Amino acid sequence: MIHSDWHIHSEYSYDARTKLEALIAGVHEQDLKRIGVTDHVNYNDKPFLSDLYASAENIGRLQKSNPQIVLGVELTPIAKPHFDYIAKTGTREGFIPTPQDTPYDIELAVNREELARLGVRYAIGAAHWRVDVADPKTADNSMNALIREWYRQQMYLACDERVTVLGHPWYHGTGIWYEDFSVIPRSMNIDIATVLLKNGKYIECNSHFFYTNRATEKFRHQYAEFLRELFEMGIPVTYGSDCHGGPNGEYDDKRVKVEKYLSAAGFSDGDLSEIAENDLW
Ligand SMILES: [Zn+2]
Ligand SMILES: [Zn+2]
Repeated sequence: MIHSDWHIHSEYSYDARTKLEALIAGVHEQDLKRIGVTDHVNYNDKPFLSDLYASAENIGRLQKSNPQIVLGVELTPIAKPHFDYIAKTGTREGFIPTPQDTPYDIELAVNREELARLGVRYAIGAAHWRVDVADPKTADNSMNALIREWYRQQMYLACDERVTVLGHPWYHGTGIWYEDFSVIPRSMNIDIATVLLKNGKYIECNSHFFYTNRATEKFRHQYAEFLRELFEMGIPVTYGSDCHGGPNGEYDDKRVKVEKYLSAAGFSDGDLSEIAENDLW
């Protein structure tokens, strides 16, 4: 059912170790037609941007003999005041946010021209942590407050011109809502879907939800059904292993388990999308 993987981290992501040679070997072994390498670009400071440059340079070199590899990035929302501070000082260190009554505006690390200049052809935009408050530790961390903030970030990403694919929708590091997906208001999913559809964006089926032991069986089925509903609305669904590299830096194939839940939700061969050539930059 899955023939391409659009979300892979190489050793140029701060939290990943996939070796490029191992990636190529794995892709041939697993018979994937197309893959996208999407290293993290979280901040607009030097260490993060140099990871992006290293990724672009090395993937660019590899593409010459492996044309099935596409260069992408994974962009993470940060607070606008933090973005501005880095733009001014060149570093994210030493930033002290000024508390305010309303959530901070959202920004992404790089502009689309800069990405295109580096040869990046698409971006996954994905929420990872809250950016609405000065101090997440002392803020209201109720499930409802977190859902509101994830909704806000995902709506931003679904609207932003830099984002091609909404990555791992409703991912949460602690899996706070991974017991029963129905805690996420249906109206929020309809809003996100409506905006994705209007803006011609993709949604990602990320293997995380089907592998993490934080998610219940019930949640996994509900989640696959959520993806199916968006698919039926006309939103193309891409697959992302979100591979960060196995113990020896290898590409770990995770498709079998994911396909089990997808097919239970009505997906069949041919339903998962490649990113179309005219949607790549
Ligand atoms: Zn991510
Ligand atoms: Zn990722």
